[in-house]
Amino acid sequence: MASESCIFCKIVRGEAPAAMVFEDEHTLAFMDIFPVTDGHTLVVTREHAENVFEASREVLEAVAATAKRVAHALRDTLAPEGLMVFQLNGAAAGQTVFHYHMHLMPRAAGEPLLLHTRVPGDPQRLASLAETLARHVAR
Ligand code: AMP
Ligand code: ZN
Repeated sequence: MASESCIFCKIVRGEAPAAMVFEDEHTLAFMDIFPVTDGHTLVVTREHAENVFEASREVLEAVAATAKRVAHALRDTLAPEGLMVFQLNGAAAGQTVFHYHMHLMPRAAGEPLLLHTRVPGDPQRLASLAETLARHVAR
């Protein structure tokens, strides 16, 4: 069930802004507003499900397919040394937005393996990354 106050539901409904990369029937991909690394992207379910336990198998398969597309777009455009793909369930695991999402985080050797930051991304950089990634995802 969509939650009135859920920030990702608001993005799905177009009531909150996002630097959008990709959309299909079950998923959306957009830039994380507090990027840990340049290119940090989220794949989010269109339907509100809190975590891996609530989301359906069909939707999770769609998330995996979108993550694969975004991973290739990130590799093609940013050529990171590594790419971290992860998903957190429950506050104890570090989840802070309780609407299912997967992180794709480009990584460079030697960087600290942080999961979150409080430093907002530069809106212009997020918008231009989203535009470039959208072009590569569509290929
Ligand atoms: P998690 O800890 O896995 O729940 O991660 C939630 C992620 O959502 C964090 O990386 C936040 O920076 C990100 N986030 C929170 N609000 C927004 C928003 N409005 N647009 C994009 N990303 C967001
Ligand atoms: Zn939601």
